[in-house]
Amino acid sequence: MALLNGRLPAASLTPLAFAPGHRAQKDAARSLTALSARFRREFQHDIAVTDAYRTFDQQVALKIAKGFLAAVPGTSNHGWGLAFDLGGGINVRTSKEHEWMQREAKHFGLDNPNWATFGASGFQKEEPWHWEHVSNSRDGSRAVVELQNKLRKAGFLRGAADAYWGTDTERAWDGLMNNIRAKEATKERIKWLQTILARSYVGRLYTDRIDGVWGDHSKAAAATFHTRFSGVK
Ligand SMILES: [Zn+2]
Repeated sequence: MALLNGRLPAASLTPLAFAPGHRAQKDAARSLTALSARFRREFQHDIAVTDAYRTFDQQVALKIAKGFLAAVPGTSNHGWGLAFDLGGGINVRTSKEHEWMQREAKHFGLDNPNWATFGASGFQKEEPWHWEHVSNSRDGSRAVVELQNKLRKAGFLRGAADAYWGTDTERAWDGLMNNIRAKEATKERIKWLQTILARSYVGRLYTDRIDGVWGDHSKAAAATFHTRFSGVK
């Protein structure tokens, strides 16, 4: 059965023991729990969690309430159980808690992604409270390595595959997307991307035929893939 954003079975979600009422995917929950223990040593209390896994219906309600500030329902990393909204000072970019997070969270595979950083996107959508689990997840690493190997073979990426979505990978991804948009990509190239997007370990973002045709489903799957795996700077 394909896992769908915002419709994860209860069995694939782990409750956060230190933040009752919130759930996330196992690896993400484990990472945030370990980070919170470290945080407690520094600040004498756990990380305050405002929001974690969000069902599809909750994403719809949030979109109605918040408009452009909220993700399109079905695309939020909250719907994959991989994102957390944090409070207690972390939600303020200039706070000591936020600065501590910027230094420490990456060692636990958690990151305040590029799009949530002030001025990083075309329109200002700053979300210092929004953190995502990316780099340490085994599935995340596998997805990024597979993509990097393909990008290398296709000539978009120079360095070796390292499971780390940094500036080079971001540039290579942009190159690939431009290449597809300009209709310069071969069917084979689109097929390999559809194949990656269909993998169970990326969440089966693409479920249509692997046909090398760049349709709406392929576009949406690629956009979600990018949002989900490009967080690590
Ligand atoms: Zn969020």
